[in-house]
Amino acid sequence: MTARLVDVALPLPLFRAFTYAVPDSMRHPVEPGARVVVPFRNRTAIGIVLGESSGVLAEGIAPKDILDVPDARVAFRPDLLAVCRWMADYYVSPVGLLLRAALPAAMGHASRAEPSIKTQRVLRLTQELDTLLQRDALFKRAPQQRALYELLESLGGQSSVQHLIERLGCTEGVVTALVKRGVAEVANEPVDRDPFLSRPAPVPRVVTPSDAQRDAIAALKSGAPGETFLLHGITGSGKTLVYIEFLRHVLNERGQSAIVLVPEIALTPQTVDRFRAVFGDQVAVLHSGLGDGERYDAWRALQRGDKRIAIGARSAVFAPLDKLGAIVVDEEHESTYKQGEAPRYHAREVAIVRAREAGAVVVLGSATPSLESWVNAKSGKYGLLTLPDRVGGGALPRVNIVDLRTEVGAGAPPLVRALRSVLSAQLEAALHERLSRKEQSLLLLNRRGFANFVTCPDGHVMACPNCAISLTYHRAPERMICHYCQHTEPLAATCRECGAEHMKQRGVGTQQVERLLNERFPSARVSRMDVDTTTGKWAHTEILDRVGRGEVDILLGTQMIAKGLDFPNVTLVGVIDADIGINLPDFRSSERTFQLLSQVAGRAGRGPKGGEVFIQTRTPQHHAVQCAVEHDYLRFVAEELPGRESPPYPPTLRLANVVISGLDELSVAACAQQAADWLSERIAKLDDAVTLVGPAPCPIERIQNRWRWHLVLKTSKAGALTRLMRGFLTRFELPGTHEMRVMFDRDPVALL
Ligand code: ADP
Ligand code: ZN
Repeated sequence: MTARLVDVALPLPLFRAFTYAVPDSMRHPVEPGARVVVPFRNRTAIGIVLGESSGVLAEGIAPKDILDVPDARVAFRPDLLAVCRWMADYYVSPVGLLLRAALPAAMGHASRAEPSIKTQRVLRLTQELDTLLQRDALFKRAPQQRALYELLESLGGQSSVQHLIERLGCTEGVVTALVKRGVAEVANEPVDRDPFLSRPAPVPRVVTPSDAQRDAIAALKSGAPGETFLLHGITGSGKTLVYIEFLRHVLNERGQSAIVLVPEIALTPQTVDRFRAVFGDQVAVLHSGLGDGERYDAWRALQRGDKRIAIGARSAVFAPLDKLGAIVVDEEHESTYKQGEAPRYHAREVAIVRAREAGAVVVLGSATPSLESWVNAKSGKYGLLTLPDRVGGGALPRVNIVDLRTEVGAGAPPLVRALRSVLSAQLEAALHERLSRKEQSLLLLNRRGFANFVTCPDGHVMACPNCAISLTYHRAPERMICHYCQHTEPLAATCRECGAEHMKQRGVGTQQVERLLNERFPSARVSRMDVDTTTGKWAHTEILDRVGRGEVDILLGTQMIAKGLDFPNVTLVGVIDADIGINLPDFRSSERTFQLLSQVAGRAGRGPKGGEVFIQTRTPQHHAVQCAVEHDYLRFVAEELPGRESPPYPPTLRLANVVISGLDELSVAACAQQAADWLSERIAKLDDAVTLVGPAPCPIERIQNRWRWHLVLKTSKAGALTRLMRGFLTRFELPGTHEMRVMFDRDPVALL
């Protein structure tokens, strides 16, 4: 009799599966999506069963046996397995690595097939003593046991042993004695390690949906399985209420489950709180600060169906939910949905595929949709839902432009000029006004550190020795830091290039503006929020909670403060330098700037007091600035789209970026040329389905000592590109010298 053979994906950088035999006596069934322990090269490995083996084994090679099937439930239900296989294909990524990335880390250890579940000892009542008489009789000479019994009773009949001992100040012996009496038992129970549980659950606000909200909710409810909707609602139009009411229907009327994706969960505690307020402990919050054990607990609770809503950043799209009815992608335009390292997937695209596999409805929500989603909605591929007004009759804030070229008079003394290029007279006056009215202000400066860079009088810039970018000056502690590789060095007294003295700091960062604010507004409570002030797990939440409690007058921060905040007492938003992102060498730089300005402006005036915005810029005519001033998304689209047609860029077609990097500049350039030749030869046979641009040095030519060249592929035929790249990544041979590497990024969000 021939043994049953299955294909198993192992977490290796190989584009193939491995064949194993299924022995008769396995403790759980060997099904597609199940985790299995298998022998691999003299050790054991954890793999995922893909399905029955289709391959024919070479003669004389006997497949090895699967050693164990550790879980009672499959790790990947069919819809999720199909999604991962689609991803492996589309992103040309080894399926085993991809499957491992989709599971909590605790499930990937070969040494521990059963992820360790943290347990605690609990004491549980097994017998109820209804009358006092019974109690008096049983606990005659044992007052401590009686106290323990009654405490346990008051706690609902069950509590952790440790907690009980601490409360009563008694010994373990009392617990043992109570158990001996036969009225209680000790058991081991899993500990829930969800840190969000320690956050107080907010009270839900009861609101009546507006007409526009009602229409959107109705459309979502009648959406077909697998259908995608774009919810375009201006800032403050009440998109979250639409998500919540739709999910209420999905959970309560249909008994299904849901996933809510947010760009960065640490930055959106308010959004998470609003879901928790309504759905309580049905919600699992997949926080980036979760430890492996905590993440595993949440994953298991979702898999068992104990929790039916998963909220998290992009990887929550892999939540192991059964009967998935809805996926919400909030702020769908955010580039954080693209994973920057392998597997380089876009969670929005994966969400759409998952919904198709599971028969769920997708809602993509944004005030400033990505052009890709907008074009899909306009062509009818997605349903388009619109919330055109702020809820409750609120108006969008008035946006004023401060032209820094004229604001900073040429004749003014240097110190005044330096001050006014950061804090114009108009913005300063507006801040004073808020302080005197006890209202709050947000200030955006998308550049952390103290100064942007340091130069000598001849203009030589202090640059990172490993990367082709300048070092950023940080004060407190004083040092120069590379924001790409974290290289740190002391501030030089003289120029490395020419030896000149009088090194000068140029371009302000958040640290310097914070100091300036403290000088100009000595009585104001200023908080700074950027990567450097938010290293702790709960740092973001703590800062935002303080703003919510009115303990902060001015919140200064990087783009972190632009997202999702809803504070009615914030009546002023200032953008210190709108030009920072506009001139980046990237086709999406205008779109990003428009989105950032619109989003941060949308934080102002969300309460009855209204609001006002000041944007400081040296390019007031730029359409990204102009359209943000007018809150005019449609005009932005109309001005931006033609620029993406020739030369064509997304959404006109799709891109892929191939980066060749290595330690030697000339070898990298030569290798990039060989890669281009290899690809061109095959592209010639593809009937213009794919175009190749390059090779050229990357905009950032060197990162962490690695020189970087890239090739950009453009196509409107996804399948042709998939096949081409699969061939390239499996057959193109890199030279074995200078640590040469290929990086493939499909649908990149930036070409840096
Ligand atoms: P968006 O996400 O579109 O920017 P939000 O969902 O944050 O907007 O809603 C803005 C504010 O309006 C929130 O405080 C929310 O509680 C409130 N809100 C939403 N819908 C209504 C409504 N129908 N009536 C009154 N208030 C509402
Ligand atoms: Zn560096």
